[in-house]
Amino acid sequence: MNKTLYIVIPCYNEEAVLPVTAPMFLDKLNSMINKDLCSPQSRIVFVNDGSKDTTWDIIQKLSQENEKFTGVCLTRNQGHQNALLAGLMWAKDRCDVTISIDCDGQDDMDAMDEMMKNYHDGCHIVYGVRSKRESDTFFKRFTAESFYKFMRFMGVESVYNHADYRLMSSQSIQALSQFKEVNLYLRGMVPMVGYKSTAVYYERNERLAGESHYPFSKMMNLALNGITSLSVKPLRYITSLGFVMGGVSFCIMLYALWSKFFGETVTGWTSMVAAMCLISGIQLICLGIIGEYVGKIYSETKERPKYIIQETTEDNKKDQAE
Ligand code: UDP
Ligand code: MG
Repeated sequence: MNKTLYIVIPCYNEEAVLPVTAPMFLDKLNSMINKDLCSPQSRIVFVNDGSKDTTWDIIQKLSQENEKFTGVCLTRNQGHQNALLAGLMWAKDRCDVTISIDCDGQDDMDAMDEMMKNYHDGCHIVYGVRSKRESDTFFKRFTAESFYKFMRFMGVESVYNHADYRLMSSQSIQALSQFKEVNLYLRGMVPMVGYKSTAVYYERNERLAGESHYPFSKMMNLALNGITSLSVKPLRYITSLGFVMGGVSFCIMLYALWSKFFGETVTGWTSMVAAMCLISGIQLICLGIIGEYVGKIYSETKERPKYIIQETTEDNKKDQAE
């Protein structure tokens, strides 16, 4: 089968893990070429997301040693989602199909064979879904699973337990490129692209080296970004809450009037304070949510670039040849 596959891997400060996983990715790619699942022109594309350590040096060295390794270097750290998009957009004009995966070896590389088989059977998008999360700590598992459930409740349709390990045909990436938003949440956007899709199940391992760049605070950030970028349900919930509060207030008013006219007026200081605190708290939360959306509109209207490519190992090779 003569389809060219580019494996896109975002990397941020990964000098500890890259020398371990790069040969594993190469072995995987070679085995897929040998099985005729992809063409010998297939490549492994590392996207250096403004790392502050020697990650880019390692990528450059890898690309000199073996032509199957390619590197794209961004001008600064743009975050995982933007780095991944940079890699996909760069790859889409050079290959037929891409697989995106993290560089830490947590996602089972062997699932790629099945992804490619599904691609040859006509699927444009294949989601890698974690069947178990036994290697994660209880806290990580609990927060991650709550994350998906909460996202669904908030009106964001995303594939349960799927991170960004997925196959995408260049055609589907072309379609994705028409989504112009600056605030990215690819897991929610890719299902909107459409096309025939399926899922492949795998078990997630522990990081082979180095440390996670997704602590709880960043995950909360991603969730907030995903919800406010893809859904207006929270605003609708606020409206519903407004109606409920309005109804409750009306009943309290009736009760107050009734008490006044039928002689049970006890000066209710505690209940007044409690009601005021509760209502002002709810109002502040609602204002905050609306503020999030206003902020999002602000950053979208500026239309700043999501990433800027500084150099690639291909350019460097060309320079050397000239
Ligand atoms: N990453 C990135 N830019 C960032 C943070 C992370 O490109 O600002 C990459 C990182 O190198 C890795 C992937 O995103 O390949 C997933 O990050 P990590 O493994 O730290 O997250 P976790 O698996 O713990 O959720
Ligand atoms: Mg990881």
